[in-house]
Amino acid sequence: MAKAEFEVPSYRKLPTIPALKEGATAHVKPYVADAAVQDALGYPGELVEDWHDKAIGRMGELLDKYRSLRVYLDACVHCGACTDKCHYFLGSADPKNMPVARQELMRKVYRRYFTLPGKLFPGLVGAADLTKDVLDDWFTYFHQCSECRRCSVFCPYGIDTAEITMAAREILNTVGYGMKYTNQILGKVLKIGNNLGLPGPALEDTLQGLEEDIEMDTGVAVKMPLDVQGAEILFVTPSADFFSEPHVESLIGYAKVFHAAGASWTLSTHASEAGNFGLFNGSYEQMRKVAMRIREAALELGVKRIVVGECGHAWRVIYSMWNTLIGVGAGGTDPFAIELQKQLDPRFKQPMHICEYTHDLIQRGVLKLDKSANDHRVVTFHDSCNVARASRMGDVPGGQFTIPRDIVKATCNNFVDMDQDTIHEKTFCCGGGGGVLTDEVLEIRVKGALPRMEALNKVVENNKVNFMATICAICKAQFTKVLPFYGFDMGMVGGVHQLVSDAIVLGDKE
Ligand code: SF4
Ligand code: SF4
Repeated sequence: MAKAEFEVPSYRKLPTIPALKEGATAHVKPYVADAAVQDALGYPGELVEDWHDKAIGRMGELLDKYRSLRVYLDACVHCGACTDKCHYFLGSADPKNMPVARQELMRKVYRRYFTLPGKLFPGLVGAADLTKDVLDDWFTYFHQCSECRRCSVFCPYGIDTAEITMAAREILNTVGYGMKYTNQILGKVLKIGNNLGLPGPALEDTLQGLEEDIEMDTGVAVKMPLDVQGAEILFVTPSADFFSEPHVESLIGYAKVFHAAGASWTLSTHASEAGNFGLFNGSYEQMRKVAMRIREAALELGVKRIVVGECGHAWRVIYSMWNTLIGVGAGGTDPFAIELQKQLDPRFKQPMHICEYTHDLIQRGVLKLDKSANDHRVVTFHDSCNVARASRMGDVPGGQFTIPRDIVKATCNNFVDMDQDTIHEKTFCCGGGGGVLTDEVLEIRVKGALPRMEALNKVVENNKVNFMATICAICKAQFTKVLPFYGFDMGMVGGVHQLVSDAIVLGDKE
């Protein structure tokens, strides 16, 4: 069991609400971005002198721009249905991690400056000035929210705390109080093309090395093509797939699937990142800049299809927002969006998730899979928040739940789901999403993983589960880190395409 410098929560015997511990995680906060990091994104390098007025001004702009934000801040009736639905609250017991309390950090400021009762009688309506203490609270607790949207599933009004968190982070950035981790990564992707800051030649070397490994392992020359002009498919995937374990095992799986299907496909150095941390910052402009690199690559390479690898938040942006961000799907009206629409093949879903791609091949009998290759595994599946609650797959409601599970079941003989209250739309966050995947906030990451670890532990004890599959790069990285704090082997997490990779039979097609 990994040693922690903080208290790792114990499993609850019953799913009880924890006794409140005021300020339990008040000390857990990410590093503040320095001037160089902020400058690269066009934000002030440090907290500006007129931060108060600027913050209120930006809040007003966001309220005008996003009607949903105003509705969410107005609509809460404090019914309490969301209070025990956040994994960070369940793991930390800090009352400010209750979704309604997190929202209240912004709502009280909204009331004070944007509602008449709040302007006239602030004390009577729970309105409060935006002080430096309040701003510091925003920085702390809006970075203890992974924007997972679980609370919104249980709210009778559908209030989405994630949108409030995103707005708060955008305001913090605007006044020069940004978070180092997400902003540094955004800087890298805008400058180099991926979150890792991996330049083109290094990527080429990495892919060549992987091709050699696969050939040594299977005797089959599976390719990982890069920047191939005129390829049919542009494949974009989180850059963690190029380097990190277990992510790279899924990359090998995708390549084997494309090989088995005889597909013409390519990766791109310019668009070597599917992830889009602009989402975490609530910045439409940053999100668009990141997404634009993929459109540029698609146009330049002349591809007919875009397929996306295993990445939860990337799929959310791509599935739900690419249409208006860059004109893939209906919605884009600028000349380049129109050009791309003409170029992409309308016979295929655009964009398409790799799980949809693989699932279709399995349904049509194109892939040969030997399930017994995974007989040493008893597998469960962790639904990633952004896939489960903010996107879809396939043509039927709930396809985002059934398609990955169908693939898992086609690749192994032993599959068990975790408790119904912890999967599908009720899935618990891994604890590291939404830009929280940084080590200075490890305490909240470990505490926030509690509900998922409890559900996992149950199937480990009852069903001997020894592998948790997922389709998110952040979930994989987070679980690798936190599993040992709960006594599990870090190697028990992996991608769905890792299972495909192990089961797929390559070579002569029969
Ligand atoms: S982390 Fe998820 S459940 Fe918790 S407040 Fe944020 S969106 Fe809601
Ligand atoms: S469930 Fe919705 S209405 Fe009820 S307290 Fe939470 S946010 Fe407010």
